[in-house]
Amino acid sequence: VASERRYRVLVVGGGPAGLAAATAAARAGARPVALIDVAADVGGQIWRADGGAPAPKAAACRNAAVRAGVEILSGTTVVDAPAPGTLAVADSSGAARLIGYDALVLATGARELWMPFRGATDPRVAGAGGLQALVKQGFDVNGARMLVAGTGPLLWPVAARLSAGGARVVALVEQAPRAAVRGFVASLVASPAKLVAAAVLRARLLGVPIRYDRWIAAVAPKPDGLGVILAGPRGKREHLVVDRIAAGYGLVPETRLGALLGCATRDGALVVDARQATSVAGVFAAGECAGVGGVEKALVEGELAGLAAAGVAEMPADRVRACAAARRFAERLATTFQLRPEVLAAATDDCTLCRCEDVPVGAVRACKDAREAKLLTRCGMGACQGRMCGGAARALFGFSDDRVRAPLEPTSLVALASAWAPDERPT
Ligand SMILES: Cc1cc2nc3c(=O)[nH]c(=O)nc-3n(C[C@H](O)[C@H](O)[C@H](O)COP(=O)(O)OP(=O)(O)OC[C@H]3O[C@@H](n4cnc5c(N)ncnc54)[C@H](O)[C@@H]3O)c2cc1C
Repeated sequence: VASERRYRVLVVGGGPAGLAAATAAARAGARPVALIDVAADVGGQIWRADGGAPAPKAAACRNAAVRAGVEILSGTTVVDAPAPGTLAVADSSGAARLIGYDALVLATGARELWMPFRGATDPRVAGAGGLQALVKQGFDVNGARMLVAGTGPLLWPVAARLSAGGARVVALVEQAPRAAVRGFVASLVASPAKLVAAAVLRARLLGVPIRYDRWIAAVAPKPDGLGVILAGPRGKREHLVVDRIAAGYGLVPETRLGALLGCATRDGALVVDARQATSVAGVFAAGECAGVGGVEKALVEGELAGLAAAGVAEMPADRVRACAAARRFAERLATTFQLRPEVLAAATDDCTLCRCEDVPVGAVRACKDAREAKLLTRCGMGACQGRMCGGAARALFGFSDDRVRAPLEPTSLVALASAWAPDERPT
């Protein structure tokens, strides 16, 4: 397979981890270095343009990368890894081509964990981060009664952004007990920047009731909106009526490209060593795809991965220490905001699990793994290829992801055929 261009270091993902990796590799002298992202601009999930204004941090990191010599390939999706050292990519016009690399850094981030409950497929129920992204793109929530529910620190910036957009956030509902969250916040003393960020967010949420130890049991349409049953310990039940729900149950590492390349995974994330190397030679990983842990972890892991990919033998000691601290933070995050059994129990057998193929939870419960669920029920066989239901099936039944197959994204046959050299193109 002939590749159109070969890079010494190629980075997939233009979020904080990928930007840090590409910049570090180029500053360490690697040439040429490129960064690929499917989005129209870099910044990833956290540094998004808001109301048409580009995110300042994304712009600053992009400029630093370009100054260091990084070539940025935006609007470009990796769809296949057809041979060692080669990726097939498609651009926004649908055209595909091959790109070669000596070292590859995966910085593919994470997606939201969607969890089933009765009524979760109502179009007024959205992913928390997804709704925030829509609002940043101009989706109007002014005056809407909004419930932000689920678990984890992401709920806070989402509630703050919805409030800033004019929504009336009726409640921020966190399934973790208050004492556990307090303990987590107290542990932030070790990372003052996070503590300050938490205090700023708390100030932006003044007036928003924050309810701990509560979770959504079910929602159902009502004449005046969306009726919500909130549940709590010892059988507590409360009823609310809202216009929309932003539901977020944490994040799922985006490991599909790593899995396609044969990289080992553990607990749903790519396994990396102290140099961010995966189990496949020449392939490194950083940020959320190697374990959910927030932006600081993404930045420091990205820097280490970029240096290692550029062939730097000795990692800077202060960065290694910062990375260890970021990973400890990630562990605390996972423990504090682990889904409680009652949230899993809200996914009753009649709830839809696979939205693409309309498969209920009960049908999948009877299966022994994701493969059997696919074969017997079509769960995960639809347009999203398990990106929605896969995380929920892991949380509910402990299923590992099924084997990943190319193309990673819907891609036209013409585009895929055009990626091969003319003499190898299928006729
Ligand atoms: C929906 C959502 C919203 C979030 N909002 C916030 C927030 O407001 N505040 C906050 O602190 N944290 C937020 N987070 C958490 C945030 O993702 C992390 O803190 C941090 O941004 C992770 O950085 P990263 O570089 O690892 O991944 P990301 O920022 O997710 O970047 C990964 C990039 O890889 C690209 N990519 C993935 N696969 C491919 C492929 N095959 N081909 C090409 N490109 C690819 C994606 O387009 C993406 O830009 C959010 C997460 C999600 C999922």
